[in-house]
Amino acid sequence: MPIPPKLTAQQRAAALAKSTAARQVRAAIKSRVKSGGLSLSAVFDLAQGDEAIAKMRVVELLESFSGVGKVRAIAILDRLTISQTRRIQGLGIAQRKNLLREFPDRTSAGERGKLLVLSGPGGVGKSTVAKALRSKSSFWVSISATTRVARHNEVDGVDYFFYTEGEFENAVKSNLFLEWAEFAGNRYGTPRKPVEDALREGRNVLLEIEISGAKQVKQSAPEAILIFLQPPSWEELVSRLEGRGTDSPERRAARLALAQEELVQAGLFDLSIVNERVEEVVERLIGLTNKP
Ligand code: 5GP
Repeated sequence: MPIPPKLTAQQRAAALAKSTAARQVRAAIKSRVKSGGLSLSAVFDLAQGDEAIAKMRVVELLESFSGVGKVRAIAILDRLTISQTRRIQGLGIAQRKNLLREFPDRTSAGERGKLLVLSGPGGVGKSTVAKALRSKSSFWVSISATTRVARHNEVDGVDYFFYTEGEFENAVKSNLFLEWAEFAGNRYGTPRKPVEDALREGRNVLLEIEISGAKQVKQSAPEAILIFLQPPSWEELVSRLEGRGTDSPERRAARLALAQEELVQAGLFDLSIVNERVEEVVERLIGLTNKP
């Protein structure tokens, strides 16, 4: 370990004052970002002329955007293969570009993002589409709360927020959900505030939810675009549900029965897309946000 330089009392006091001032600058930047007053590109610009901002950790900056938080900030960095310890000044050109795609500037004052609701029978591939959309575009994909037990490959705060029955009930009573529904014996809900914040910031939002929740969203937000994802065929859906090793046989049977009921409801949606190829579905969803 290198030996720290010997400092005089005066030098120590100066170093201390400098780090306190840097912390204050960073706190002010974070609070402006949090309130929506500063975009990511604006922070990058400011960092060019301010050492304190340039030395700020990227994870710290991202988690101050509303609706992001620590878990999500780390997940974004992982996905973009940016080290969790990276500072703004250490970001490469491609990394900056990817982050700016993720956190775009507001298009114009007051312009809201579009709200897309992706629904369809269980097993049709909604979550695969949502994941692909998240990695290929600047869509903000909502994380739902659920009372379901986590599957072995799921992470709290990334795939879902796993709630107890009591926690879920409290959130319902406090009107914290934009919509919620019971599905195959568990409850699922979309936390309201992060969705509203993201739309207000001009970001396009995707909800990946079951059908009765989608209908609730349309009632409270008629501008929402409801998309029904269709399987290429009924046989294909059966084989996907049967092959889902993460569910018990009883659960798979219940989901199959539900899927049959769900397919009938396609007509209530703004449009249907057949999930032949995930990339095509993703392109069509992105295309929907370009329409006036
Ligand atoms: P799974 O248990 O397989 O993750 O999800 C079961 C169903 O619940 C899927 O159809 C999924 O789209 C739906 N779902 C997930 N999150 C929500 C939510 O927040 N609200 C509603 N209404 N459905 C959800």
